[in-house]
Amino acid sequence: MSRTKNKGQNSYLELKSDERNSLVDAMGESQFRTQQINNWIYEHHVRSWDEMENLPQVLREKLNDTLLLHPLEIIHISGSETEPTRKFLFKTQDGHNIESVFMHDGDRTTVCISSQVGCAVDCKFCATASMGFIKNLSAGEIVDQVIHLQRESKSRITNVVFMGMGEPFLNYRRVIESAKTLNETMGFGARRITISTAGIVPRIKQFADENHQFKLAISLNAIDENRRKKIMPLTNTHPLETLLESARYYYEKTRRFITFEYVLLEGINDSPEDGKRLIGLLKALPYKVNVIPYNEIGGEFHRPAERTIHIFLQSLKNAPFTVTVRWSKGTDIDAGCGQLAVRTVA
Ligand code: SF4
Repeated sequence: MSRTKNKGQNSYLELKSDERNSLVDAMGESQFRTQQINNWIYEHHVRSWDEMENLPQVLREKLNDTLLLHPLEIIHISGSETEPTRKFLFKTQDGHNIESVFMHDGDRTTVCISSQVGCAVDCKFCATASMGFIKNLSAGEIVDQVIHLQRESKSRITNVVFMGMGEPFLNYRRVIESAKTLNETMGFGARRITISTAGIVPRIKQFADENHQFKLAISLNAIDENRRKKIMPLTNTHPLETLLESARYYYEKTRRFITFEYVLLEGINDSPEDGKRLIGLLKALPYKVNVIPYNEIGGEFHRPAERTIHIFLQSLKNAPFTVTVRWSKGTDIDAGCGQLAVRTVA
């Protein structure tokens, strides 16, 4: 039998539960086989139908001839297996490239995954923005990043963050669907899955109204409207005040903390006065702030000097909210926060 697949052919990961059962049924097998297949994919992270040893040979051949297992193919891995950070370049069935990052730190293993090919939001400090928007990833393509990364990793993934390429809330339905699969089928606790948005206000409210348990992060990056407009033009559509109002709405509705990310850019938002104004801006509710010293991408923005970073952090010392610092990992392989832009092509 031929094992050649058509490009663009559907993958098993794109099928809903009832479609999977119908497929197996049409091949003359009971629905028990669907559970076995799911177990091979989500628990054992197998590469191919042929590895599903407890399926009858004839069923494996039918599946092999009918549809793809994985919608993504690994093209390149930067960093060795022993390095704490590795960047994965994938190819989609329709020939686009996306990137995901694996980060190991002590007992925490985090993967940063993409939700779109490119991005339309155009944050001025972000490498992905230079690609423009190409397409939304399907829920299967989003989940497949985690399946591949888990198979290629020695340590068990503990956390998943939607902070790779793309604005997750501009691909809202598929991102929520994929987060549910990670939670309900792959066993990641909801509070170990973080969805990070640049600030799509209606979707933040929808996320609150739908009462999803996943963590929410908002990329803030500036303490006033004008400076935010300069580095994040979506502020023209979603003004800072509206964004903060949606964050309050989220907290009041769910009683869950939001993490505000604050990318520290030299001469833009890194003075001690900026730190004090940040406290003033956020003091009303119990947020958390994650300061991310900028990872340079060769453009107009720069990372502040270490001393400037420490003075800025000092200005937040008495903040009424928790402050953490993300010293990004993998900046040497362009895998740091904001550096993903598919530059490595095999
Ligand atoms: S920071 Fe996020 S939302 Fe902004 S352009 Fe980059 S990928 Fe898009």
